[in-house]
Amino acid sequence: MSNEKQTIHDFDINIIYEYFSNTERQGPGNTEETLKALSFITGLTEKSKIADIGCGTGGQAMTLGQNTPCEIIGIDVWQDFIHKFNQNSINQNLQDRVKGIVGNMKNLPFQEEELDLIWSEGSIYNIGFERGLNEWRKFLKIGGYIAVTENTWFRDERPDEIQEFWQKAYSEIDTIPNKIAQMQNAGYLSIATYMLPEAIWTDYYTKQALNLNSFLENHKGNKTAAEFASSQRHEADLYNKYKKYYGYMFYIGKRIK
Ligand code: SAH
Repeated sequence: MSNEKQTIHDFDINIIYEYFSNTERQGPGNTEETLKALSFITGLTEKSKIADIGCGTGGQAMTLGQNTPCEIIGIDVWQDFIHKFNQNSINQNLQDRVKGIVGNMKNLPFQEEELDLIWSEGSIYNIGFERGLNEWRKFLKIGGYIAVTENTWFRDERPDEIQEFWQKAYSEIDTIPNKIAQMQNAGYLSIATYMLPEAIWTDYYTKQALNLNSFLENHKGNKTAAEFASSQRHEADLYNKYKKYYGYMFYIGKRIK
């Protein structure tokens, strides 16, 4: 397999974990954007329950914990991320309300209509946008909210190089109107849709680059690690070249049926 054709999905999870273990977030996003999305959600009280699905080490869950009075359950399939999540929660004195558990987004451990808000930044692609929206809806109360970020085409026509890259990496990447239609068809009223700033992705790649030398040093001679780092660099180069064609969007919806 050539480097150019490899995506994050082709690599050993241990390598991916190690690569991302020193960054506050494991996907594109920041506190300011999390707070902006949160500003669209009304009615949260100390009785409300939020699930952060594919929470990683808790980048956004800690922000939600500091800025709402709610109980927050972070779910991630990767035990080491959950361990770090719970350490972060203790460090910020949020451990009574913000807890991480190991679980799979394809089989969530919630009751029907248990949740007031589902949050998922940089993660829903693991189940697929449409499937995630449809399968997770039943866990929300009627009138409850969902806030997710998703990689999206900004234009109807794309150069072959970037079209083929994302087709292979995440074939569900789609245009804004199609994503909104999927949200509405899954039983949500679309409340807000907006683009995350370019800096979201450039910061994400810059932080990775800062950790790169120590990562490569730790894995000297390990071909998979070198290839993974190279695939991430390739993705960053493509982003710089083609950023007017795609990027991350926030989609916020309200369960209406
Ligand atoms: N939301 C975090 C992490 C984004 S990276 C942030 O923005 O920083 C995507 C996360 O999804 C990773 O932590 C990965 O372990 C998790 N993940 C991948 N497949 C999953 C699944 N099937 N169920 C739950 N989590 C999953």
